[in-house]
This record gives sequence, C-alpha cells and structure tokens, in this order.
Amino acid sequence: MKKQMIILIVVFIVSLCNFAFAKNMLDNPIVSDYKNNSIIDTRSTRFVHFKYTDSRKLVYCNLKVNKLHGNRYAVSIASLTGTQNIIIKDSRQNELKYTYYLSDSKGKINDYELVTGKDLNVYVTTYKGVQIVYTDTQEESMKSLKKYLDMMPAKMLVNLKQILMIPYSNTSCIAGSTKDTRITLYNFAKYDEKTQKNILFHEATHTYANKLIDEKKIDSEYTAYKKYVDADNNYVSSYSKEFYKSNNGKLSEDFADGFAFYLIDEAKFKEKYPNRTKYIENILKM
Ligand SMILES: [Zn+2]
Repeated sequence: MKKQMIILIVVFIVSLCNFAFAKNMLDNPIVSDYKNNSIIDTRSTRFVHFKYTDSRKLVYCNLKVNKLHGNRYAVSIASLTGTQNIIIKDSRQNELKYTYYLSDSKGKINDYELVTGKDLNVYVTTYKGVQIVYTDTQEESMKSLKKYLDMMPAKMLVNLKQILMIPYSNTSCIAGSTKDTRITLYNFAKYDEKTQKNILFHEATHTYANKLIDEKKIDSEYTAYKKYVDADNNYVSSYSKEFYKSNNGKLSEDFADGFAFYLIDEAKFKEKYPNRTKYIENILKM
C-alpha cells in the first residue's frame, strides 16, 4: 500500500513537470529577433528572423518566408510598411501572431501611438545600432542625440537598443528612465546641452551596467566600485548622494552619473574624482 502511494506521488510529480514543460513550449515555441509589438526601421532591416526552439516545423506564414538552416526562417519585410502581422502556423496546429510597426522609406511609422491617445507623427531612425524613435516636433533633439552618441565609446552602446523620445514632461518630472536595453527620454528639448548630455550618458550607462552585470564583470551591488568611491571620499552629484543615503548605500546612480560626468569633461572629472577615474578607465578597457 505504502509503495503504491509513493508510485502515485512520483507519477503525479512527473506529470506536473511535463505539464509545466509543455506549457512553456506552448507559450514560447518560437524565438524572433524582434519581440511582439516592436518598431522596425525598414531602412536598416529587410528581414525578421525567427527560429523554433523544438522540433516543430513551419507549415504556413502569411508573408514571404525563406527557410534558412535548421529551424531558422527569414520573413521578408522589405516592401512593407505600417502595422503588419506575421502569422505563423506550425506542425502542431498552433497559430502564432506577431505584430510589428514598420517604417516607410522616410522613417515614418504610420498608426503608431508613441503616447496613448495622442495623434503624433512618429518616426524612427537607426544610428550606430541604436533605434531612435521620435516625433516630427523633435527633429532638432534627435540630431543632438546623434551628436552625443558620437561622444560615447562604442562598447557603451552595444547594449543600448532603443531610445524613445516622448515630447512631453513626465508626470513625476523624471527626465529619463531605463528598462533593460531601452531608454525613454521626456521632453528632451527643454534642457540645455550639458544637461541633455548628462541625461543621455546617465541612462546609457545603466544599459551598459546591465550588460556588465550579465557578463559578471561587475556585480549588481557595485562592490568593486565602492572602494574607489570611498577613496575619493565625496559624491559625484547631489542626486547620487540622495539616492545613496535613501537606498542603503546603493551605488547604481553614482555609477551612472560618474560615467556621465567623466564623458562630459574628462579632465575636470579626473581632478575631482581621481579614484573613480581609474576605475572607469579600467572598466572601459574590459
Ligand atoms: Zn539612473
């Protein structure tokens, strides 16, 4: 009786695992190089690539598709613009739908809502691998942004995939925010040049730090950086000081502002923060 119970429990656990495994496969059987609802700059991209992560096969696609090696496919988007759905049916009777917003030959993305409820003309341009999404009222800011990207070391841009330029101020009055590889900037035009650089470099450093953490070159507590901060015995900005004090000594904001000020005026930064400078220069060599 006892043995039967154990067998039953084991069978139950195994079937639970299988269910979780199957569900995971069902949720995410294909991996595309663009997430659902992505903006695509058709002037720099002619194909969307995707692959199956298991043995299923593609049996239908509403767009022109080329089979590459193995389970990899390339969907041609070269002649398309506007909102496009890629519908894929696989050999296990699943239908998958990806929605993409494609630019036209001038970079305009028709019917794309950058700000919910606002009827804005939205454009995309790709510069140094970074997708900049902006409105036609922000052309000057977009040009400044490109100029500032030129001032950054190439390796700091590797993990920066997209900059969304919102033409309005944020309700909490923040100038920028970063999520993984994407930066959102608010009302960029209202700031002077030095502040604009500070905002962009600061947020871009967060995307760079995310990559350094992923690659285990630094840890998320910025442990190694702390020694250099302590040696300098000061704060790089009132913002980094406030953040440090109200977040148990967290150094992510000092790190971002440190890199930003270093990029804005290296000589001045070196004079005030000689230890951080050593650290930053070492990191940039990695
Ligand atoms: Zn920050």
